[in-house]
Amino acid sequence: MIGTVHLVGAGPGAPDLLTLRAARLLAAADIVFHDALVHPDTLALATRARLVPVGKRCGKLSSAQAFINKRLVDAARRHAVVVRLKGGDPLLFGRAQEEIDALRAAGIPFEIVPGVSAAFAASAEVATSLTRRADASHAASRSVVFVTPSLASDADPSTADQWLLATLAADTAVLYMASREAGRIARGLIDGGKPAATPVAIVENASLPQATAERTTLAHLAAHGLARRDGPATLIIGEVMREADAIELAAEAILQERCRAA
Ligand code: SAH
Repeated sequence: MIGTVHLVGAGPGAPDLLTLRAARLLAAADIVFHDALVHPDTLALATRARLVPVGKRCGKLSSAQAFINKRLVDAARRHAVVVRLKGGDPLLFGRAQEEIDALRAAGIPFEIVPGVSAAFAASAEVATSLTRRADASHAASRSVVFVTPSLASDADPSTADQWLLATLAADTAVLYMASREAGRIARGLIDGGKPAATPVAIVENASLPQATAERTTLAHLAAHGLARRDGPATLIIGEVMREADAIELAAEAILQERCRAA
């Protein structure tokens, strides 16, 4: 027999930001290979499946990608419904192409189920649109780039600055896997010509009850970096984040929600 491998987006964290299709597949799954950040309540939907953690979390135990690819192929030869559950959207910074290529090469049928990416949960958290029309007091944002400054150890050094050029070119940039290097990133952007006063929002644990959002500028980040954080964090850089009021209101709303819950 040959089963199907479903590459499924788990969303940014909150279990109820899962798609209905993802929930249906989890309920039907025989085996689920999941990332480290997937919420326990999401995994609990896979009532009949064996759960196999294959997460890669910075500094923690990780499974080599080639090994994950092989395990997916092997699982499809033994099970009808194999789910590979990835945080956010599976096709954004999730090494999905390597898994897709391996499945294709082995002749295993597969399906992709999109998910809500961290960029969307983070912009929702600060209640600020990633794009906007120009008006009397605001510049337009017509382009958004999803970028990660982290480089694979085997990356071609001549491409090392591509993230920087892409970030400089976009009106709004959403940076993934960037909080640890925030100081270096901010200095690179200022050196590259981005105004030091450009606003930045740092959103940690977007969509979860423990979400936090703070607002700063490139200049401040360049000088001080970011304190180390435990949860995943996304940086949103661009003039759209000059909406101090919107961010403070969102933070205020979160606070009030928590007070009500307590
Ligand atoms: N495929 C995922 C991204 C995987 S890379 C997606 O589409 O969202 C992992 C990075 O995503 C983290 O380093 C962080 O930058 C970001 N991230 C994931 N979940 C997040 C969350 N709940 N809040 C803020 N950032 C998050």
